[in-house]
Amino acid sequence: MNLADYQPRSMLHVPEHHVARPAFPALDFHTHLAWSSADGSAPPKYLGDAQELLTVMDRKNVSALVHLTGGYGAHLDACIRDLQQAHAGRFYVFAEPMWNRASEPSYEANQAAEIERAARVGARGLKVLKTLGLFLREQGRLVRVDDPRFDPMWETCGALGWPVAIHVSDPEAFFLPIDRFNERYEELHNHPDWSFCGRDFPGDRELQESRNRVMARHPRTQFVVLHVGNNAENLAYVSECLDRFPNMTVDIAARIGELGRQPREAKRFIDRYQDRVLFGTDAVPNGHEFPQQLFCDELYEIYYRLLETEDEYFDYAPAPVPPQGRWRIYGLGLSRDVLRKVYYENAARLLRL
Ligand SMILES: [Zn+2]
Repeated sequence: MNLADYQPRSMLHVPEHHVARPAFPALDFHTHLAWSSADGSAPPKYLGDAQELLTVMDRKNVSALVHLTGGYGAHLDACIRDLQQAHAGRFYVFAEPMWNRASEPSYEANQAAEIERAARVGARGLKVLKTLGLFLREQGRLVRVDDPRFDPMWETCGALGWPVAIHVSDPEAFFLPIDRFNERYEELHNHPDWSFCGRDFPGDRELQESRNRVMARHPRTQFVVLHVGNNAENLAYVSECLDRFPNMTVDIAARIGELGRQPREAKRFIDRYQDRVLFGTDAVPNGHEFPQQLFCDELYEIYYRLLETEDEYFDYAPAPVPPQGRWRIYGLGLSRDVLRKVYYENAARLLRL
């Protein structure tokens, strides 16, 4: 039998709870309803029909989605018009930096000006993909996360009261050899391009420290460090960062597999930082590339089950499982006070709703 064919079924007889709707209306801070084009001007190709998204949202008691990858320029304007303005209160759109223009001499001023323009047309924040630190290159060399050319951009976001949703680095296992010791072997085996092991890539910790220097330099800017501070495997380190940087918040998107496999640590973590943790799923409608993030009822139900129940040993993603590693998760059983903050209040405050 091949390892890929091995799909053991748990023989545990334990209570199972189906949480169809959350204890409080949820604001999903982290979705991708379209991917922006490199030049920012091409019209968005939406991955799902807004009416169909709203049907799922209503069924799952999701009050609003934040569409993070809104690009810039004409693309951004279209997203704001088609989503945020067409369905007020149900969608919020974030802008993205003009990465393809980062090497232009006037980039610093132009980027800050484009953010001010985006705010005038209604964008609600800035999204930074892991492009910065892992893909964006200049004369072949990776551009650093704390490159000073971005300082006016971070400062402008702070001045506008815009949260910066930032993804820096990736799971620790993506920086290690794809071998029999790698806990995400199957995933990396299927997607070898997701590996940042070797070559000229900085290490995981180096990337995070670079991001920390940005947060230190811009204390007036609120940073939402996505995916549990991009180090859900090491909540002690994320706690250290949260303690050092009062302008840092995290979301839980696409990391319930990490939180749920260390339920006692994760519960202590969320209780302690209950004002700085946001609900988010990283949902992608029609996500062929990311089946584990497919926007659907089941995705939300797994998140609700993790946050609200004390269920034992269940799958952290829809079948076929497990996409990120061969383990299962345990419910955190968060209190109602904490759930209210995580599901909605913390995001509402950051988005100034
Ligand atoms: Zn995402």
